[in-house]
Amino acid sequence: MLAPVAEAYFGERELTGLLTESAGRWPGFAAELTEATGADIGYRTEGTLMVGLTADDLAEARRLWAYQQGLGLPVTPLRPSQLREREPALAPGVRGGALAVTDHQVDPRRLVAALRGAAERAGVLLVPEPVRQLSDVAAGVTVVAAGCGAAALTGLPVRPVKGQVLRLRASGGGPPGFRHVIRGYADGEHVYLVPRDSGEVVVGATVEERSDVDISAGAVLRLLRAAVDLLPELAEYDLVETVAGLRPGTPDNAPILGPLPDRPGVLAATGHHRHGIVLTPVTADLITGLITGEGADEPLLTPFRADRFRIHSAGSEQSREDDAWN
Ligand SMILES: Cc1cc2nc3c(=O)[nH]c(=O)nc-3n(C[C@H](O)[C@H](O)[C@H](O)COP(=O)(O)OP(=O)(O)OC[C@H]3O[C@@H](n4cnc5c(N)ncnc54)[C@H](O)[C@@H]3O)c2cc1C
Repeated sequence: MLAPVAEAYFGERELTGLLTESAGRWPGFAAELTEATGADIGYRTEGTLMVGLTADDLAEARRLWAYQQGLGLPVTPLRPSQLREREPALAPGVRGGALAVTDHQVDPRRLVAALRGAAERAGVLLVPEPVRQLSDVAAGVTVVAAGCGAAALTGLPVRPVKGQVLRLRASGGGPPGFRHVIRGYADGEHVYLVPRDSGEVVVGATVEERSDVDISAGAVLRLLRAAVDLLPELAEYDLVETVAGLRPGTPDNAPILGPLPDRPGVLAATGHHRHGIVLTPVTADLITGLITGEGADEPLLTPFRADRFRIHSAGSEQSREDDAWN
């Protein structure tokens, strides 16, 4: 999801600003990538419906929508009848919702394949080997974009935050029976449903302070129950994939962008946590500006500098734990 509005949470104002900035760059970025590669990256702009199943769910959601509206973000409340005009497949019991018209989606698997193709065409040499330590890299400028692996390489406080996701497909292979991304509160569970052009529906996601990528029965149960509570027809879809990934989380949930103190020539582009896809264009632009020197004073970077955290000797487990308490 490219969701600067739905992901605008209390206490994350600066991150919300960066998400909004990057989402604004997405149409141009998608067009440029499609033109360079001819690839369809599944960029879709139908918008996102945020819905609440029960009265309590709706009360919780409305508190957040009021905050988001207070920031000037485009959140349009919808009555149940208006919701069902847009998505007739929603469960009759859904109490209410809101539209975030600027929250879009892209298919991350297609995106990564297209970026890889574009990079290779531009002359990038890909060396598929792990870097054990930064001193092994002979380069004038090194960008550490290693997700959770950045902690071991740099000592930055980046930790894995596990997310389990399901993929469903309509039996018979037709398109999903809804068009918007749907983000729901369903009897206390948070769930999102993303309809893909390929016919798949992505159901996500758990948020777990763990570093394994195992699939747990309980997570599948909770995700499916919440999904079917909101969109009953999903019960008849095929379950085609279960997968878990690790978000590179930071203590303040915001990315770390820019030079590492005391490490000349090393730039961090990591800690993107829940937002690495939406933040792709702005991260690329900001890091390119630092490499060329033309964007060294870019004010957008200021809240996301590496020196807002204590940086420990690379790879120290204990020091990363310490950071969580600081
Ligand atoms: C379940 C789930 C749902 C998500 N949903 C969304 C969403 O809707 N929208 C959104 O914007 N974001 C979402 N995210 C977050 C997004 O996927 C991440 O923020 C993003 O993948 C981070 O990208 P990255 O390239 O920094 O790190 P990664 O994707 O983790 O990639 C890092 C790469 O570096 C490699 N690496 C690590 N260490 C080394 C080393 N020492 N040497 C060489 N290579 C190394 C790894 O193998 C990996 O290939 C989601 C994440 C999860 C898990």
